[in-house]
Amino acid sequence: MEEKEIGIYIHIPFCKKKCIYCDFPSYSGAELYMEPYLYALLDEITILGTKFSKYDIKSIYIGGGTPTYFKTSYIGRILETCFSCFNVKENAEITIESNPGTLGKKTFLELKRLGINRLSLGVQAWQNELLKFLGRIHTSQQVVSSVRWAREAGFQNINVDIMFGIPNQTVEEWMVTLENVCSLEVDHISAYSLKIEEDTALYSMVQNGVIHPMDECTERHMYHEGISFLRQRGYIQYEISNFAREGKKSVHNLIYWKDDEYIGFGCGAHSYINRVRWYNYKDIEQYIYTMNKNGHGMEYREYIDSNIERFEMIMMGLRLIEGVNKAEFERRFGKPLDFYYRDAISQLKRNGLLDENDSSIYLTPRGLDIQNTVLLAFLDYMG
Ligand code: SF4
Repeated sequence: MEEKEIGIYIHIPFCKKKCIYCDFPSYSGAELYMEPYLYALLDEITILGTKFSKYDIKSIYIGGGTPTYFKTSYIGRILETCFSCFNVKENAEITIESNPGTLGKKTFLELKRLGINRLSLGVQAWQNELLKFLGRIHTSQQVVSSVRWAREAGFQNINVDIMFGIPNQTVEEWMVTLENVCSLEVDHISAYSLKIEEDTALYSMVQNGVIHPMDECTERHMYHEGISFLRQRGYIQYEISNFAREGKKSVHNLIYWKDDEYIGFGCGAHSYINRVRWYNYKDIEQYIYTMNKNGHGMEYREYIDSNIERFEMIMMGLRLIEGVNKAEFERRFGKPLDFYYRDAISQLKRNGLLDENDSSIYLTPRGLDIQNTVLLAFLDYMG
């Protein structure tokens, strides 16, 4: 039997309300589709489970959307199907994303009973005015209750997502968010810079001049302040936007950053396994229809050749503070990093953007700030 550990991603695209900045495949007012979506999802897991049952599952990530807006009994059925179709390891990390305001005390206990052992809470900001502006449905008081209930239910691994670079957010407000989130004693913090994506309400507001994006200088200042604040509070930065207490790095997200393999279920979900990448239809209706008609929800599929695979390993690996492991690269591609990228590495080192030690190449703090420029240098040597 081929020994391989992979991850599973399950997408639940339903939200109570659409946030103004959100371009994820998530829908509000689509409750009518919840039940047919569940059945399509169960079919997809069962069908692909037959094909990939030989691999060990080291993580399951239920993301969205707002998975806790889906019935808890539906989440139970999804997990039961995963457990029966795949070889889920006993110590697998099983995460569910949730938004305060969509679940009460009892739900945390139910989720824990289903085998979920990691919770990821969308907090975003501490100021209720900012939350309201973003279109979030919760208040900071609900964040406090959610974390308390989660701990009482026995969750020992809690992540919170927070955001900086929000239009009109001040540096002081950002620091208050950090302070309060740290005082909750959570285990992991994802701190993202708000991106203004096309096809969002926020994008239109900016286009119409109603809202002005934050200037880059303040946004970078917030990022650097955040890093040093979190370091002082015992959170180790291990990826551009991610910070963890000892032993609490996200097993699932590391799969992406190490360019390892995963299978995604649900609308818009991506998969990457055995050098094939595919993604499903984003639209709920289209996904359900294709699943029912063809037994798959796939919209696009491509073979990843070794040139692309090498670049992707660098692209994702350089997001990690530890960088790209040299031995791992050589094991995968048969030749050392230097063989393919000697010139790019020397040039970036000369420019102070990249450094190396015996085991890895990694970005310097300056390189982390302009990661895209660094990647262009590698792209030139893609072959
Ligand atoms: S809760 Fe999350 S997924 Fe849902 S609309 Fe807001 S940002 Fe998007």
